[in-house]
Amino acid sequence: MADCLFCAIVAGDIPATRVGETDRVLAFRDINPQAPVHVLVIPKEHYPNVAALAAADPPLLAEVIGQVRQIAEAEGVSETGYRVVLNTGDAAGQTVHHVHAHLLGGRPLTWPPG
Ligand code: AMP
Ligand code: ZN
Repeated sequence: MADCLFCAIVAGDIPATRVGETDRVLAFRDINPQAPVHVLVIPKEHYPNVAALAAADPPLLAEVIGQVRQIAEAEGVSETGYRVVLNTGDAAGQTVHHVHAHLLGGRPLTWPPG
């Protein structure tokens, strides 16, 4: 999709620190990390948010979460615990409108979130 930052990362037009990849999914480090481990996992195909992805392609959503699980293992947070966040819409603070799962870990995370 034109003018989409994460589509440009998928295409390799904008650099990112890639930490995992399958045919349909890409994981890369967040440019402004909020925790020692902060990785974004996205489908390579463009969907604006998780609701659109869930409606259109449930197996692809499952693959995104499967990649989150694998990266959590690789980053050493699967035992200590981690948080998976899919900000959806303006009130949740979604700023990039290409669905992405935040994987956050490596420090205690408080609840409720802001
Ligand atoms: P959200 O607010 O849920 O839409 O999250 C968007 C995330 O994308 C933020 O955590 C940003 O730090 C991150 N981000 C923005 N630009 C880049 C980039 N070029 N590479 C990696 N992460 C980015
Ligand atoms: Zn996109």
